[in-house]
Amino acid sequence: MKAVRIHQFGGPEVLTYEDAADPQPRKDQVLVRVKACALNHLDIWVRKGLPGVKLPHILGSDVAGEVVEAGEYVSGFKPEQRVLLAPMHYCGHCPKCVAGLQNQCREFTVLGNAVDGGNCELIAVPAANVIPIPDSLDFNQAASVPLVFVTAWHMLVGRAAIRPGQTVLVLGAGSGVGIAAIQIAKLFRCRVITTAGDEAKLEKARALGADHGINHYKQKISEEVRKITSKEGVDIVVEHVGAATWDEGMKSLKSSGTLVTCGATTGPEVKIDLRHLFARQLSLLGSYMGTMGEFHEVLGHVFAGRLKPVVDRVFPLKGARAAHEYLEHSQMFGKIVLTV
Ligand SMILES: [Zn+2]
Repeated sequence: MKAVRIHQFGGPEVLTYEDAADPQPRKDQVLVRVKACALNHLDIWVRKGLPGVKLPHILGSDVAGEVVEAGEYVSGFKPEQRVLLAPMHYCGHCPKCVAGLQNQCREFTVLGNAVDGGNCELIAVPAANVIPIPDSLDFNQAASVPLVFVTAWHMLVGRAAIRPGQTVLVLGAGSGVGIAAIQIAKLFRCRVITTAGDEAKLEKARALGADHGINHYKQKISEEVRKITSKEGVDIVVEHVGAATWDEGMKSLKSSGTLVTCGATTGPEVKIDLRHLFARQLSLLGSYMGTMGEFHEVLGHVFAGRLKPVVDRVFPLKGARAAHEYLEHSQMFGKIVLTV
């Protein structure tokens, strides 16, 4: 098959479009022909070098495609069935996995991180990872769903225990997690304040349901939040930006508010004023991907059309280098997808 592989860590130039051996599916796996694979910031971290990545390596966590064949131990799939893949990779038999807490499994990783991903023509995964999709979703849209929607669902529902009527600040409206979090918070009938670097993005965020937009280049986030909330602050901050927005996110919380974070795109080192943390009784929560149960829960809303993936731009698989450069240097709104 054709694949984009890396043989060393580095810039976009290490992405090599080449022939690779077809995967040999196990008896409990399904072989899938990849039609689309969306990019995530994780692809950049892995390309630059993460521990546990064996070379040569195939990137790509978010896959949609068609079933080629199912192994002997697998039932319920037929050739050419349209599917997306759960990006979670887990052992399936440890106490955490059998309790449904796959993202706490010691072997937990995602496709394209410690195991090969979907920047290729064929991929073999366990049957539990293969989920049929409705005709209403094309492959590019389907590939834009998994990682960001399960991440945002776990943050808001699994970790922050969102309740109807709350006020939620979603940082970075144009990111995949931001787009998912805005819609999930609106699904819970919450008031959503979001941030972006230009008016065009804020307009798109409003179209997704955001009630208020803050231009983070022109306005101070915490000051605008105070104005919008009559000095009260928000119940929940959805943080994934990291160092660049941390202080403003913390200052935007109401007393007993919750900040939940799943990323550190602009840097991992932040300061916390402990007096602010204890006196205002704030909660700081870490969040990592989500469980298989949460994945099915959020997919139900996507398949019903209540949550919508947003595709920014599509590149061919062999244009993976250009796609990475675009991801690193452009101001996108939505997912970048490689079509195969
Ligand atoms: Zn496990």
